Amino acid sequence: MKSLPYFCRGEVIKGFGRGSKELGIPTANLPDSVVDNLPADLNTGIYYGWACVGAGDIHKMVMSIGWNPFYKNIKKSMEAHLIHTFKEDFYGEILSVVLVGYVRPERSFSSLEALILAITGDIEEAKVKLELPEHLELRGDNFFTSAPSGSSAAPPTAPSASQTILNGH
Ligand code: ADP
Ligand code: MG
Repeated sequence: MKSLPYFCRGEVIKGFGRGSKELGIPTANLPDSVVDNLPADLNTGIYYGWACVGAGDIHKMVMSIGWNPFYKNIKKSMEAHLIHTFKEDFYGEILSVVLVGYVRPERSFSSLEALILAITGDIEEAKVKLELPEHLELRGDNFFTSAPSGSSAAPPTAPSASQTILNGH
C-alpha cells in the first residue's frame, strides 16, 4: 500500500462499549478528525505498527480500521491495541501511531472464540514482523520524540496542527 508508513496522532476517545477490554484486548479509539484524514487508498482491515501514549514509551501495536456499526456502517473508526500492559486507562491522552504493515482485511466471525483467536494471531504476526530492520527503524522516527506530552507541558505545536502537517494535508 503506497500510503504506508502512515503517521497520525489524536486524543484517545471513548469507544462504543463493545467490551474489548472484557475480552482482554482493549482498543484505544481515535477521533473522527484523525479517521477523516486517512488517505483513500488505505484499505480497511488490520494493521500493525508502533504507538506511544503522550511522551511515553513506544510499543508494538495492532490497529483495526473499519466501519463502525454504531453509525450504521457509514463512519470509519480507528482502534489501536497496544501490546503492553498499562497500569491505568489513558482516555484523553494523545496517542501517536505509525502504521507500518497490513495484516488482513476485516471480516466477521461465527463465534467470540474465533474472533479472539484471529486477534491473537494478528498480535503474534505484528510482534514478529515489527522485528524486521526496516520496521524497527520507524520506531526511532522523530515523529515519536516530538510527540506532545498531553495536558502537562505546553507543546510548541498543537496536536491537530502537527497531525495536519505530518499527514501532508
Ligand atoms: P472503548 O470502547 O472506550 O474504546 P475498550 O474496552 O476498547 O473501551 O478499552 C479501551 C481503553 O482501554 C483505552 O482507551 C485505554 O484507555 C485503555 N487501555 C488499557 N490498556 C490498553 C492497551 N494495551 N491498548 C489500548 N488501550 C488500552
Ligand atoms: Mg475501544
